[in-house]
Amino acid sequence: MTALIAKIVWGLGVIGWFVIRYPHARRARRTPKVLRSDRVREAVLMAISASGLGIVPAIWVFSGAPRFADYAFNPLQAWIGAAVFAAALAMFRLTHKALGRNWSVTLEMREKHALITAGVYRSVRHPMYSAFWLWALAQALLLPNWVAGLAGIVGFGTLFFMRMPREERMMLDAFGDEYRAYMARTWRVLPGVF
Ligand code: SAH
Repeated sequence: MTALIAKIVWGLGVIGWFVIRYPHARRARRTPKVLRSDRVREAVLMAISASGLGIVPAIWVFSGAPRFADYAFNPLQAWIGAAVFAAALAMFRLTHKALGRNWSVTLEMREKHALITAGVYRSVRHPMYSAFWLWALAQALLLPNWVAGLAGIVGFGTLFFMRMPREERMMLDAFGDEYRAYMARTWRVLPGVF
């Protein structure tokens, strides 16, 4: 693995993410919503997350800025990053398949929204966010620049910690004891840890 290949792997990972998401984003546009919460707040959080996972690293990949934050490339670290990105995309695909028409890019409830608690949702209640954490970790391992590498953890982390409690509140409002029981038997993103 060379530094250039690591950048290409990162770019392919981002493209892979778009490819996986595209059909779900299309279907989501046609699926009626019954509730949409925190619209402006959600738009700001998604912009922060997209900056950290996409824009800041893309600037470094294409222009080299900010150069002062570069550090020596380590091939083993990049290989691990590639494996983590592959795991992130696999997980991301499974969560989209499991959520189906219930998925929304922001905090929304669909008409006839079903609570999914099986498959990848069996022991973790935010596995799609687990996939994004893996992406952020992969980025940190693949891109040998402190700013571009860590931007994903900061950007997605901001969205995660600001959104997740509100999402759980929304799900509790919608599903009541069913979601409360689901929360009691699941972890948030990493079984056994958080
Ligand atoms: N937090 C989840 C889902 C992210 S998508 C995850 O990380 O896997 C966000 C939307 O998914 C929310 O607006 C909500 O409408 C929906 N959602 C979240 N958890 C769900 C579940 N267990 N079953 C069905 N829909 C869910």
